[in-house]
Amino acid sequence: MTQADLAVDASSKAQPVHPLIASVRDIARNQLAGQVQAIDRGLYPADVLRKLAAAGAMSAHLNAPHGHGDYALAIQAMAEVAKVCGATGFMMWCQAVCGLYMQEASASKLAGQPLSDHVAGKRLGGTALSNPMKTYAQIESFLLQAKPVDGGYRVNGALPWVSNLKRDHYCGAIATLEGSPGREMMFLLRCDAPGMTLRQCPSFSGMEGTGTYALHLSDYFVPQHEVIADPAKPLIKRIRAAFVMLQCGIAAGVIQGAIDSMWAVEPQLGHVNQYLEDRPDTLQAELDELLARVMKLAATPCNDSDEFFIEVLDARAHGAELSLRAAQSALLHQGARGYLMDSEVQRRVRESHFVAIVTPAIKHLRSEIARLSQEEMPA
Ligand SMILES: Cc1cc2nc3c(=O)[nH]c(=O)nc-3n(C[C@H](O)[C@H](O)[C@H](O)COP(=O)(O)OP(=O)(O)OC[C@H]3O[C@@H](n4cnc5c(N)ncnc54)[C@H](O)[C@@H]3O)c2cc1C
Repeated sequence: MTQADLAVDASSKAQPVHPLIASVRDIARNQLAGQVQAIDRGLYPADVLRKLAAAGAMSAHLNAPHGHGDYALAIQAMAEVAKVCGATGFMMWCQAVCGLYMQEASASKLAGQPLSDHVAGKRLGGTALSNPMKTYAQIESFLLQAKPVDGGYRVNGALPWVSNLKRDHYCGAIATLEGSPGREMMFLLRCDAPGMTLRQCPSFSGMEGTGTYALHLSDYFVPQHEVIADPAKPLIKRIRAAFVMLQCGIAAGVIQGAIDSMWAVEPQLGHVNQYLEDRPDTLQAELDELLARVMKLAATPCNDSDEFFIEVLDARAHGAELSLRAAQSALLHQGARGYLMDSEVQRRVRESHFVAIVTPAIKHLRSEIARLSQEEMPA
């Protein structure tokens, strides 16, 4: 996959387009675009997500036979969708990383039929890993506790928000193990199992259609065959770069959408917009450079060195910062029409805020880069 293939902007019509991207673009334009306002107000787009999954849009990164081990293609597919709807792009990421957890659960049955159903979009799922990721980065502590029992574990605790969920969905989660300090267990958490309650979250300023709930676990039983990894740390070390790198697809789509909105008003407002900073051609050059960097990183997603992870964190931070700048500049370019409540420009400002605060948030990224860089320095 070359940068030229990352045809997320209108100017790339002449570039060759991967068949998967052509299908994703068709679903985004013809099925998703008409629902974006409703999704912004709280509609969960299950049908679109299932269609995207069936097209292979959330599994290109998985190993054969489920995917092609192509992270660049997975990022590109996410960008195509996030350009139209950042919330749906985010849910693609949730489904994509959940599939990765199931694939890596090679010791259990999860990597068999459950993963096939997940890849086909028959089942949907998410990831409850914000809290563990922040805990591993030493900025939070674990919210779920597991106790070993006959045939599995009992888990207790609560998580404030997990997305891409409904009653019959599931997500990857991590709990600390009672009696084993420093050891955690990763498992598939089923929303419809006994001991699990989904609670409505307060209204968010954006991302309302992302099926986001608070999770409360009371003596929730994890059978041995739903364990993804015990201990969890070696798996997290192996997939942490992939987890973060895939999010660059959401950022790329939000940025490209903002740039396209600036060009859309150029004929009417170019004479005065020329005095603004962050003009669309400048932002496009910066996005193209960032994407070239991400595509290079995407060629070796399983590199588990700290040095590589720092590179990925840095690219992800650049994506979040550029999302904020691009969305803000699109608003300035569009003026009052971009300030209308149902304007895509206005919605994208809120989506860009989410790119900046979802784990790893910009502050988390910077603290992790600082922590790992210090560890890398010779004593
Ligand atoms: C719309 C939405 C969807 C999300 N989806 C997921 C998901 O799918 N999976 C996932 O693991 N995480 C999810 N999160 C959480 C997200 O990834 C971040 O962890 C969260 O935005 C806080 O990150 P932070 O690093 O800025 O922490 P801070 O905002 O600095 O907060 C520190 C801690 O306090 C908690 N906190 C802050 N305010 C509140 C509050 N009002 N009520 C309860 N707790 C609070 C935070 O969760 C965090 O643990 C979602 C958040 C939002 C807003």
